[in-house]
Amino acid sequence: PTKRIPAVKAPQRGAATAESDPATLEADAISAWFGNHKVLEQVSLTMPARKVTALIGPSGCGKSTFLRILNRMHELVGSASLSGRVLLDGDDIYDRGRRITHARRQIGMVFQKPNPFPAMSIYDNVTAGLKLAGLKAGREDKDRLVEECLTKAGLWKEVRDRLRQPGGALSGGQQQRLCIARSLAVRPRVLLMDEPCSALDPTSTRRIEETIHELSDEVTIVIVTHNMQQAARVSDQCAFFLAEQGTPGVIVEHGGTDAMFNSPQDPRTTDYVNGRF
Ligand code: ADP
Ligand code: MG
Repeated sequence: PTKRIPAVKAPQRGAATAESDPATLEADAISAWFGNHKVLEQVSLTMPARKVTALIGPSGCGKSTFLRILNRMHELVGSASLSGRVLLDGDDIYDRGRRITHARRQIGMVFQKPNPFPAMSIYDNVTAGLKLAGLKAGREDKDRLVEECLTKAGLWKEVRDRLRQPGGALSGGQQQRLCIARSLAVRPRVLLMDEPCSALDPTSTRRIEETIHELSDEVTIVIVTHNMQQAARVSDQCAFFLAEQGTPGVIVEHGGTDAMFNSPQDPRTTDYVNGRF
């Protein structure tokens, strides 16, 4: 069944419907496996509404897996399993009877490699998310939505005169901002970003960071980054993941970003944030 998208009017600050308000996401004792291989052990973390949470840590410690668990993508891998709960403003997204699309609509994802539909127009790329989420909108609503989402993604001025050109014709940084606009089209309450700038040049990276900063008022953001300066610039709080010698990934330490960088409690955090491994 399709339903109309909620209140696609001109962007109204402070007048969002509850359905699209930023939500607090809480991971409660998450453990995860691929087959018999345990990759996360009892990970608990609260990602508060209207805050930016950065997930940091070396490759292979389970950051991407954790992110995919937060919007029910993990279960799409045949060998994958998990235990624990993920609460979206207190509602368990894994409750039996909850549909996977329910979580997906509210919790968007942006990946490391920009992945717009390359042959599809810029306009259609933005509205594509609606259909996937089972939402419908009229032409005028769509026009407004496209402008609103491209504006929020910091791309509107650059593309307003060429909305019918293919998404694949944009630069890498523009493509990533198009992907952000596409994920915003369903008015998610949380936006997960997995190393969104790793494939981008420094200028494009800066633009994405500005966008993250502006978006943090209207959507809860969780970003995985290997760039410590970036974590320090964009996040309110950080969680440091580590998987030592073949053991599953755990959160070694988490806290406010300033404290994590200036007065970490664990020597391993000190080493990591100072680039020593
Ligand atoms: P990170 O994002 O921190 O680099 P990942 O979440 O990608 O870490 O990986 C965590 C662990 O899970 C690694 O040991 C990785 O090899 C394993 N892993 C990730 N994806 C899969 C998969 N689809 N099948 C099997 N193992 C996987
Ligand atoms: Mg990863």
